[in-house]
Order: sequence, then structure tokens, then C-alpha cells
Amino acid sequence: MAHHDTVWGSPGAADDTTGVASLLEVVRAVKAGGTPPRDLIVLITDGEEMGLDGARQFFTADPLHRRVGALINVEARGGGGRTTLFETSANNGAAIALAAGAVRRPAGSSLAVFIYKVLPNDTDLSMALGLPYTAYNYAFIGRPWLYHSPKATPGALDQGSLQDMGGQVLDLTRALLSARELPGKAPDVVFFDAFGLMLVVYPAWAGWIMLALAAAGLGFAGRADWRAVAGGTARMLALIVLAGVMLTAMNQLSFAPGAPNYYDRLAAIPRLEAMALASSVAAFLLTMGAWRPNPAAMAGAALPLLLLGVAGQLVAPTAAYVVVLPVMLVAGAIAAARGFGMAGQGLAVIIAALVAGYMLSLGHQVMQGAGPNLPVVALLPLALAALVRLPLWPAINRKHVGVSAAVLLALAAGTALHVRLDPLADTVAVYSNDK
Ligand SMILES: [Zn+2]
Repeated sequence: MAHHDTVWGSPGAADDTTGVASLLEVVRAVKAGGTPPRDLIVLITDGEEMGLDGARQFFTADPLHRRVGALINVEARGGGGRTTLFETSANNGAAIALAAGAVRRPAGSSLAVFIYKVLPNDTDLSMALGLPYTAYNYAFIGRPWLYHSPKATPGALDQGSLQDMGGQVLDLTRALLSARELPGKAPDVVFFDAFGLMLVVYPAWAGWIMLALAAAGLGFAGRADWRAVAGGTARMLALIVLAGVMLTAMNQLSFAPGAPNYYDRLAAIPRLEAMALASSVAAFLLTMGAWRPNPAAMAGAALPLLLLGVAGQLVAPTAAYVVVLPVMLVAGAIAAARGFGMAGQGLAVIIAALVAGYMLSLGHQVMQGAGPNLPVVALLPLALAALVRLPLWPAINRKHVGVSAAVLLALAAGTALHVRLDPLADTVAVYSNDK
């Protein structure tokens, strides 16, 4: 399913012509492979932008909707980036298992599913989620300035996003067409793509085992040095508070007086990301740059994140992996730093590369998703990246820390002012021009 309509004044190359083009190419490819064991329905809806009208018509009044077994919807909010699985039908365990085995270059996560569920947004798929189908929803959100933009032309579109969408949807469509049975209901699982290479999938309860391992590792590192543990906890809390204040203040600085234009804020996302990154690194330097923690202090620094992991595991177990898994890995690195000499150092390097790299990617994703209004979403990847850096951090002398932080904050403030003072982006949706 994809919608062919677009908003007034936009060529709509991404939203949702990429979806329609992907469907047509999937049909061509499926037909080239012979007659599949199941029927494939291609639903190209109308009136999505007006209020999901075509999808409503199909899923309430068209008899064909009773023949649907599984459903894939494709969408776009922007003109680039990875095509991402961001919504599924409820009880997605079997649906994700099938996708994990079928899609060769997957992108998506149960965190994205959780965040999207909390947000008030809708796509055509909203009209079908009450029905007993297994459903998948894909979209890309990169090049956000092209969302509903008069500049959303085929030339401005990231051609890789179109290829990515077609590739993932084709793999999944083929698997659904040939599966002996369509995936039914099974408990929701944790899933995320490991750097786009594969889908990691595990049951939500495994988070409790990870938390127990993390607690054991941190207990080993922190044992008999409770002063250092308390000091480490205080440092981490200071980092979170200081970064939160800085991110909020810089973001306020970036707002011109009056009601902000939503599409102008989307156009500012790359600069808002740079602003958030500079502020975050400055906050890290000011709170931890000159610090030389022992393993017990590092365990103390991990403690607030361990508690956050426990809270997340209780409230939103399929989203909590984003804290629980890295805290377990970092706890391993910290414990190794206390007990296992050079081998421990090697382990810490590998874990730091994996976790910090993942947090950079996560920071980019959450800033694209929510950064224009809520830059504090960068706090979680910042805290975890800072934590994993500690076992390897060469404490810098105080003077250099001060100078570096001042330069970074000046860059962040300059970027915020640029966002505030520059004219309205020429990419904003035409119906928003009067703001
Ligand atoms: Zn759309």
C-alpha cells in the first residue's frame, strides 16, 4: 500500500511517489519470478493527505479487504535516509521473525515502533491496524527539509532511499508470498538493525537477564569503594543536568519570536544536530573531561543508567534495550578494566567502538525524529556514549578542557543564532508560507 496523492504545491517525489514506484517495481520483480503461491494486492490509495480517505474506503467498504492476510505500507517524511520499519501490528513476534530472515539490508527498531506509537502521527496503515492483519509500516525521514516541500522533486530525492525501500519491501513481499503460513500473533519482541547489516531479535524478557549481568559487573567493579561509586554517580547526574540545561537553552536561542514554522524547523535539523553535538561534547568535557575515574567510580557513573534500564524494562520492555544492552556491555568493560589487565583493555576498546558508534547513529535518528522541538532526546545517547568512553578516557588538563568547552559552546550558540536569524527556508510547504 502507498498513496499517490500529495499535498498542494509539492511535486511529492518522496511522499509518496517513492512508495508507488516501489510497489510497481516490486510487482515487476515478483512477476519476473513466476506466479507466486499467494495473491498480491497492490493498493494505491487517494486522499491520504486529506485524512486517509482512500484507505478508510478500502478497509471499511471494499470487499477485497477481507482477502488481505498481511500488509506492507510505504511512506516518507523527507527525501532521504534509510527506509525504516517503524510500525507493526500488535504482537509482532512472528512478523519480525519473518522479516529478520527475509530482508537482506534491514533498517528498523522496536524503539522506533515504541516512539511512533507515542506520537500522534498517522499514515494509511492506521486505518488497518484494528483489523486482524499482520502489518508492517516503512518510511524514511532523512533530508527532512523536503517534507511536503515545493522542492520535493525527483532530482532532489535521495535515489538510494528509493532503492532501499524497493529492496526491503521486495524481500519482505517475496517472503510473505511464499511463506507456508502467514505470521500470526506472538508476543512483541525487541528488534533493531545492527548498523544496517542484520536484524537482531530477542524476547523482551531477556532484558532482565542483561540487567542482572550488568548489576553483577558493576557490583564487581564497585565493591568496597562506595565513596568512589557515589562520586561517579554524582558526575553522571551532573553531566545529564548540565547537558539538559545547555541543550534546552541553545534550542530556545534558535527560536525566532512568534510561532515557529514546522517545515522551517525541519529544514534546520542538520544545524540543530550540530548544535546539539557541540553542546553535548562541551557538557561532557566540563563534567568528565579532566576526570580520571577508577573502575568503582565508573560503576557509579553507570548506576543512573542501570536504574533507567530497570524503569524502562518495567514500563516499555521492547524500547528499553537501547539502555539495557549498552549498560550490560559497558558494565562488562568496566569490570574487565578492574580485573583482567590488557585483555580487559582490549575488550573495553571493542565495546567502546560498538556502543559509541551506535549512539552516534541513535543520536542522529532521534534528533531527526524529535530534535527540532525536543533536543533533550540527545541526552540518552550522550550519557551512554560518555559512559562507554570512560574506561579509555585520557584525562585532559583543566585548562584545555575549559578552552575546548568554550569553543564548542560558542559554535553551538553561533549555530543557534544562525537558525534563529536566517530567513524562512525556501523549502517550506507552500500552505505554511503565511507563518
Ligand atoms: Zn505520505
